[in-house]
Amino acid sequence: MTKRWVPELLAPAGNLEKLKVAILYGANAVYLGGQKFGLRSAADNFTYEELEEGVRFAHERNAQVYVVLNSFLHDKELDELPEFLEFLESIGVDALIVSDLGVITTIQNHCNIEIHLSTQASCLNVYAAKMWKEMGVTRIVLGREVSLKEASKIKKETGLEVEMFIHGSMCMAYSGNCVISNYTQGRDSNRGGCAHSCRFEYSLDFEEEQKKAYFMSSKDLEGIRVLPEFIDCEIDSLKVEGRMKSHHYVGTISKVYSDAIKYYEKEGHLLSEDMKEWETELRKITHRDYTQASLIEPAGADSIYTERLHDENEYVVVGVVLDVHEDDHLVIEVRSAFRPGDTLELVPFSGPSQEIEVSFATTIMDEPYEKTKPGYLVKIPYVKEAQKWNIVRARLS
Ligand code: SF4
Repeated sequence: MTKRWVPELLAPAGNLEKLKVAILYGANAVYLGGQKFGLRSAADNFTYEELEEGVRFAHERNAQVYVVLNSFLHDKELDELPEFLEFLESIGVDALIVSDLGVITTIQNHCNIEIHLSTQASCLNVYAAKMWKEMGVTRIVLGREVSLKEASKIKKETGLEVEMFIHGSMCMAYSGNCVISNYTQGRDSNRGGCAHSCRFEYSLDFEEEQKKAYFMSSKDLEGIRVLPEFIDCEIDSLKVEGRMKSHHYVGTISKVYSDAIKYYEKEGHLLSEDMKEWETELRKITHRDYTQASLIEPAGADSIYTERLHDENEYVVVGVVLDVHEDDHLVIEVRSAFRPGDTLELVPFSGPSQEIEVSFATTIMDEPYEKTKPGYLVKIPYVKEAQKWNIVRARLS
């Protein structure tokens, strides 16, 4: 039997805990930022020590780590880059995601780490991709503006790896070419400060009538139903947006897409009962209405969503499993308060969620709680399939 193409699933890692959650829930690679030079100033971003631990954790589990250096830098900032590059090479970072030609030159002068071209550079065609290849780029991250057909052509005609977004929030502007946030909030979207102004509610005065709406807020990308097309086009890497999103989001998306990729690899189709389960899971995380953006057809007015119906958290993470005492109890670190009598849900690394009836909740010294508090270590009933780092969540009433 011919072996089927298997793409890489690339998840966002906003901090060290999210890196671990993403990899344990099935991501093959993560992308993250250091304290400088990336475009997500509000993400926790990794210190040198955390970067070293993150790379070690990933490599022990055959996962890759890509560091985002996609700001456009001034000369003074470029002077500070070589020391960081030498550190990244010393800890074995697998690739750097870059937009600026000056940054590419600096990388080539100071280390031998692979270079991936960021979506910020807006590479949309074969000719541009060939130029980037000549400059030493090995992979192109294509923007949401590019269709699967175009991506496949770029891959075939250049021999470059291609990476495409499969899930997450989207800019309503061309990737990397937006100043709405600079103009409305004084926050520079091209230097990590985007306030997501396009997603705000605005009002329009029209013939003495005032209309309020989210005129520019794009729906979120959801590619699960077109996953077979991504795989058949041999897209090298499927990227999930969201370095600033929660570890519930990171864990859920990593698990759903990794399970679906494995199912397709084995069966050659996604006509599965599991599809309903996967889509239900994707609706348990914070999201706007979903769209397939420009992947198959050009995006139209229906890719903007005007009603804010689906962005409430249906579920909240109440804790993370830190220890499993088989057939007896779990120790969890509480993230959100709960009480004995509540019903929680454990999210295993693979397979369906497991209900936990909280018949008891005690301190690790076995003193009972009436209500737990964030940050506390709490014993709750054991549930089969539980493993360290599993997410425990509860439905919001
Ligand atoms: S304001 Fe909206 S379109 Fe512009 S960079 Fe931010 S998220 Fe993207």
